[in-house]
Order: sequence, then structure tokens, then C-alpha cells
Amino acid sequence: MTPAVGEERRCGACTLCCKVMTVRELDKPNGQWCRHCVTGRGCAIYADRPNECRGFQCGYLLWPALGEHWLPARSKLVVAFKPDGMEIIVHVDPGVPNAWRAEPYCSEIRAMASQVEGTAYTVFVQIGRRVIAVFPDREVDLGAVAEDERIAIRDEPGPGPGTMRRGAIKLKVSDPRIV
Ligand code: SF4
Ligand code: SF4
Repeated sequence: MTPAVGEERRCGACTLCCKVMTVRELDKPNGQWCRHCVTGRGCAIYADRPNECRGFQCGYLLWPALGEHWLPARSKLVVAFKPDGMEIIVHVDPGVPNAWRAEPYCSEIRAMASQVEGTAYTVFVQIGRRVIAVFPDREVDLGAVAEDERIAIRDEPGPGPGTMRRGAIKLKVSDPRIV
């Protein structure tokens, strides 16, 4: 969506963010191709694209730690940083829903979760509306997250007596536990 001039990495023929990302300004749900996307070429309204598209931060373009194999057109995975939360989201092409289970991606996603442990960040995998929180020791499959639901990250009892660990739950936006 934002292939800035001068970046070391370029979008090339990739357009996967224009499928996997939600664009509210266009009423485009995630997992469906944008009507303005030209396959293999990019955005047909690039100069006038919505602000959400302008603000999109693609992990492949911006995060050198992701190897070349993370090129979204190849991996079928788009790593994104959610601007309004401490979230790293691996968006999976719903046409290849198990792409994130393939190696080396699955191991590297777990490694991401280990790297952010102790920070405010959480790693998620998103396939359409289905969201999976990835922690160093486990995954929490939250299922489909509706428009009126949010995910809360909070401490919960761990497997050992008296231990605590980070967990994820799905709540209605009206729930007072949403801060
Ligand atoms: S997913 Fe990333 S590399 Fe692919 S088109 Fe979007 S911004 Fe470019
Ligand atoms: S408006 Fe352009 S940049 Fe935004 S999703 Fe559609 S094709 Fe992609």
C-alpha cells in the first residue's frame, strides 16, 4: 500500500495487503480483494488512496529482521503493526489459511512472541476474522472476533501453583474490563 521511494525493499508485484487488510473508508473487509487493486501492479487510485492505506506499515518493507522469504506475495503472510495498539499482527491470506504453520514462518512467529515477552506488545495471527494470540509457551485461539468485540490482554493464573502468565480473552466493547 505504501511503497515509499528509496526504501531498500519494494512491493514489486506484491499486492497482498490490498486483500488481507480491512479498509473501513472503502467498506472493505479483510480477506477480500480491494476493488481498486490491479493484480501484479498495485493500486489504481494510488494518488487518492484512503488514509488507512497511506498509514499502513508493512513489516516486510520496514523490518529488516524479517528475511526475504517473508515477501508477502511468496509467504502469503503480511506482518503489520497496528497503529492504535501494541500489536504485531501476522495477517494470513485466507486463501492459504495454514500458510503461517509452514516453516520457517511458524517458528519465526513463535520467536517474535519470545522477543516481545516482557514488553507491552503481543503477537497475533489473523485469518479473516479469526484471531490467534501467540505467546512463547502457547497459542490462544480466540475464534472469530466480531465488530463489537475486542481482545484484552491480561495476566491470568499459570500452569504451576501460584504462577501467573499473560493471556488473551475476547470481550464485548461494552464490557467494563475493556480499558
Ligand atoms: S504487503 Fe507489503 S510488500 Fe506487499 S504490496 Fe503491501 S506493502 Fe507492499
Ligand atoms: S485503495 Fe489502493 S492501496 Fe488501498 S487497499 Fe485498495 S488497492 Fe490497496
